[in-house]
Amino acid sequence: MLGKELGKNLNTFENDYVVFDLETTGMNPYDGDRIVEVSALRVVNHKVIDEFSTLINPEQHITEDVVAVHGITDDMVKDAPKMKEALTGFLDFIGEDILVGHNIKSFDMNFLKMECMLQFDGKVPANDYVDTLILARHCMPEMAHRNLTVLAEHFGISPEGAHRALVDCRMNQKVYECLKAETDKFESGIKTVPQCTKCGKRMVIRNGKFGEFWGCSGYPECRNTMNISR
Ligand SMILES: [Zn+2]
Repeated sequence: MLGKELGKNLNTFENDYVVFDLETTGMNPYDGDRIVEVSALRVVNHKVIDEFSTLINPEQHITEDVVAVHGITDDMVKDAPKMKEALTGFLDFIGEDILVGHNIKSFDMNFLKMECMLQFDGKVPANDYVDTLILARHCMPEMAHRNLTVLAEHFGISPEGAHRALVDCRMNQKVYECLKAETDKFESGIKTVPQCTKCGKRMVIRNGKFGEFWGCSGYPECRNTMNISR
């Protein structure tokens, strides 16, 4: 769904959503890096019911160091649809659904935003979205690293074939559901986090200039922080 502004970042657990993932030619969409693959899974009532996946001809060279990450070569994308056609298919697939993805707030959403602006007269994807990396910070404070494969392994999900978009979508869909189960443990008291010594609210993991720390969930009313000991 296109609109004037990007959708809101939600930290929620949804029953129905679309998980998506992109592979790209580099890290920076503002510096001309482009999307080479987009995949998505439609989930209804926690079950995957449909999938979408396409390679994209980025009309630029895919460098060796990037091929080493996802394995997608110039040759593989030379006959693939170009950006506008591929994105039109993706936008049709996602409709108005809430999007879910790993590290999408600072990576994938920026790529989608840039590419859509270029292809669709300055319009951007307006779907609200859930970033599982941000959710994992809340649900898995005990873990020092929370990239997708680390989380998958932690939950006993096979990371085989990681770094191709559809495989990462399947992995992340399971991770998202596992994060929901972790959150339920907080509610039932099986898993706990420190309480704020000033206001009594739950502490949450936050990321600052010098790494992660516990911050009060009552922020900005309460600005209490604590160091993490793992
Ligand atoms: Zn507090």
